[in-house]
This record gives sequence, C-alpha cells and structure tokens, in this order.
Amino acid sequence: MKKIYISLLAVILALSVVSCTPAAQVVDVSPTTPSPNVTDGLDNQDNSQPEPSNTPVSTPEPENTPLPTPKPTEKPKKNEPDSSPVSDFPDVEWESIVIPEEFLNLSYYYSAKHERYQRYKALNPDYDFDKAILYVNIGLDKPYYNDIREIKEPDRLDVLVNKYNKLPDNYKPQLEEIPSSLLAPGVGKQYLRKEAKEAFEKMHNDAKKLGLNITVYGTYRSIQTQHDIWNRKVKSGRTVEDVDRLNSRGGHSEHHTGLAVDVIKNDYTMESSKEFEWYKTNAHKYGFIIRYPKGKENITGYSYEPWHLRYLGPELATAVYESGLSYEEYYAIYIEPFI
Ligand SMILES: [Zn+2]
Repeated sequence: MKKIYISLLAVILALSVVSCTPAAQVVDVSPTTPSPNVTDGLDNQDNSQPEPSNTPVSTPEPENTPLPTPKPTEKPKKNEPDSSPVSDFPDVEWESIVIPEEFLNLSYYYSAKHERYQRYKALNPDYDFDKAILYVNIGLDKPYYNDIREIKEPDRLDVLVNKYNKLPDNYKPQLEEIPSSLLAPGVGKQYLRKEAKEAFEKMHNDAKKLGLNITVYGTYRSIQTQHDIWNRKVKSGRTVEDVDRLNSRGGHSEHHTGLAVDVIKNDYTMESSKEFEWYKTNAHKYGFIIRYPKGKENITGYSYEPWHLRYLGPELATAVYESGLSYEEYYAIYIEPFI
C-alpha cells in the first residue's frame, strides 16, 4: 500500500505541475517559460501533460458522470488488438478480483484485457467495474507513451490522437489555407482540413453577426516539426521526462490531424471573453468540441485548454458535448467497440 500511496502522490504532484507556453505566432515556436497561468498544450507542442508515473494511474475522480450502459442489441467486435503484457504492473493482490458477469457483456469489455481490468480494479478499489474497464481501455493503467497503438485510419474525422494513439509517421492530411481575415493578429499562414475549415468559417461568420470575433490562433503542425522540436529539447541536455512534460512527441499531437484549431489566444485570459462565453455552448453545433475540458485532465492527459477546439462534425460533436464525457471516454464507449 505504501508503494501505491507514493505513486499516487507522484501522480498528484505531476498533475499539479502546470507547464506552459505562451502562444505560437508561427507554427513551430517552441515553449519556453513555464507559467502557472498558461498551458501550451497542443497549441505549440502539447505541453503540460502530467508526468506519467511508472505505476498504473490511480486517477483521481474526474467527474461524477455516470457511464452509459451500452445498448444490448449492439454486438461489439472482440478484435481489440491490445493484448500487451502486464509485467510492467506493480505487485498487487489482483487474482481474487472477480469481474461480475454483467460487466463481461459491456460492449467495451475485451477479454484480452481481463487481467489488466482485474489489476486496475485492485489498485483502484473505489472504482466501479465499468469505470475500471473503461479507464484500462483508454490506457490509463499504463504510463503515457507506453503501449502505443498506431492509428490505422488517420483520415477518419473521429480519429482519436493522444499519448497512447499515434498517427503514422508519413501521415499528412489534405489541407486548405485559412483566409487571412480570420486569423488572430500576427499569426502566420494557417491550415486545416477542408471540413474543419468550412465549419470554422461558418462559426466565425455567425459569431460575427453577434459582434464576436473568433479568430484562428494555431492550426496544423507537421509531425516532422514536432519530432524536431522534441529531439532538439532532449539534445539540449534536458531529461526525456522533463521534455515529455512540456512537449508532445511527434505523431501524438492532435494538431497533426488538421482538425484542431486554437482560437483567439492560448492564454487563460481568453476565458473571460464574450467569444468564449458564446462558443463554449455553441461550437458543437458547428462540429467542434473543447477537446481538453476542465476536470478531465487525468483522462485526456492535458491541462484544461479552453482555446483548443477539435472538429468532429456537428452530429458527433453534439453527442460528445451532451454526454459530458471527455473524447477519450466517449470514444472508448461509443466508437471503438464498433469500428
Ligand atoms: Zn491546441
């Protein structure tokens, strides 16, 4: 137990470290000065992820969102590729954990992960079984950047990119340039995929009629740029752990998809803007979600980022918005089992 408490403490301490980078005027500005008020997150280099511990993450309670029950008629596929070894788990008395039958019928139960579910539940006895199962599916029982899966269909609009899911190294989306009239002051050329660009333009124009100015601050960043930044940081003498806390690794940034847009300014002062007040309850109608919401940091792996919008299309974005779930949770419950 002592070991678990130490691990918990390490995770909590890591999560309390808010790193940051003031925003990018150009796409590949690297983060510099940490500040308690600003996270960079994905905006520059996916900053501020909590440092993974070497133990399963005993995630603090994120929110009391009840987990939906899957429809019994939907037949999940059981071809989940993951069957990774569990030797990297700490010792814990898990063999006696019996997962009740009803949870074996969840659409997002995978028999290949049964032992991981048992171990995670043993480490997190306060979690319900469905939550333990869900969190293992997201990957939260392992440190970030472990057990990485390469994304097979990176062009899907519902693609999930995070610290466990990586875009192929050669992936490059089809991009279109954003009209300069939509850009925040001082921002260089910006690009999004056609669907996201058109949706953003529509949202921008509708907001304009209300006297609001929702501008583009940052969009696509190439995988190579991200690789280069990360490597440069490591070569500068910093530890990998330190760099990981401030910079995402190549292929793991949602900005690579061409579906993510940082709006207005990646600074928490933008939260008090009229624009934020409007889009936080309207962006989903245009197909965007606030991808890294408050209270879900331990699931998404990123600090709350009110400026980072992700395009999913209006239907899916509305479903995610109304669910109150993070996209990791929503994806694991409603998308992954049926792909
Ligand atoms: Zn971002």
